[in-house]
Amino acid sequence: MIKPFEPDLVYYEPGALDYPLGKELVARFQSMKIPVRPTTSHNQVTGLPGETPLDKYRIAKRTLVIGVKKSLKFEQSKPSAEYAIPLATGCMGHCHYCYLQTTLGKRPYIRIYVNLDEIFSQAEKYIQERAPEITRFEAACTSDPVGIEHISGSLYKTIEFMGKQPLGRLRFVTKYANVESLLNADHKGHTRFRFSINADYVVKHFEPGTSPLPDRIEAAGKVAEAGYPLGFIIAPIMSFSGWKEQYQALLKKLSNRLPEVDDLTFELITHRYTQSAKRVIEERYPKTKLDMDDEKRRKKWGPYGRIKYVYPKEQMDEIKDFMHRTISTYFPRAEILYFT
Ligand code: SF4
Repeated sequence: MIKPFEPDLVYYEPGALDYPLGKELVARFQSMKIPVRPTTSHNQVTGLPGETPLDKYRIAKRTLVIGVKKSLKFEQSKPSAEYAIPLATGCMGHCHYCYLQTTLGKRPYIRIYVNLDEIFSQAEKYIQERAPEITRFEAACTSDPVGIEHISGSLYKTIEFMGKQPLGRLRFVTKYANVESLLNADHKGHTRFRFSINADYVVKHFEPGTSPLPDRIEAAGKVAEAGYPLGFIIAPIMSFSGWKEQYQALLKKLSNRLPEVDDLTFELITHRYTQSAKRVIEERYPKTKLDMDDEKRRKKWGPYGRIKYVYPKEQMDEIKDFMHRTISTYFPRAEILYFT
């Protein structure tokens, strides 16, 4: 089990002290003798130590901002949920391919929102607007909420809040195994707990700073035993020497640990990148073994004219066929939500 993350440096927005969680966190880090400084706004977090952009990036990943979510207009999160519920941004993990590299740009620090009651009231409004339809909220669009749960406790509260909403559902995904504090939450089956898993090769080379795979699998077993609807995201699926054996071994290990569950989903996403992501990744992880050879890829136009570099069609078909067959061998009752 990896050591739970603690920041090296903490900032707080003054408004955060108007909320119990804000006060509690500031007091907690002060008592731990971690430097705690006020900042007028998270956009004004300046003076982060570090000589080079790379140093600054690494230090920012170990910096926490205790903040208030001012705009309560939730982003959309199609297709797997209607809205992104904002609990935090940023993550202490160092996954080379992480989408936050580009979406958070130059602000990769971790920001926790402390005005949870306001966030929950807004979620209730969205639920009412769509009644009698179910409204789904995704909590992992901008961070890994399980990774920082030992600091914020926000996910537990959100799970219990959603348990009380007949028409509200929560979902999130994690690469962290510290799930103990969430096992007793009164979820009422309204939260789908998903784990991001991958072949040993991918976890070993591209996911530093996250929980080891055996710990994630063990955590998934506990989550299933706690009665949560469970899901797995296998992403990014990569084609490397021995990929079939490794993905098969992964699914076998998973099936050995999981109890019989009725409600199990898989989401499958192959590796892809944009040119801007490639530039950022090469700058931040100069020794990465990530295969981003444009010559070996097919160009796929996405929204806003962005070009994604995906595997060629034959390779995609082979991966899709293999993953579908292997999942149905080990998990005949599971639902594969999508392959992309
Ligand atoms: S754990 Fe998830 S959010 Fe964190 S760095 Fe890795 S991919 Fe990004």
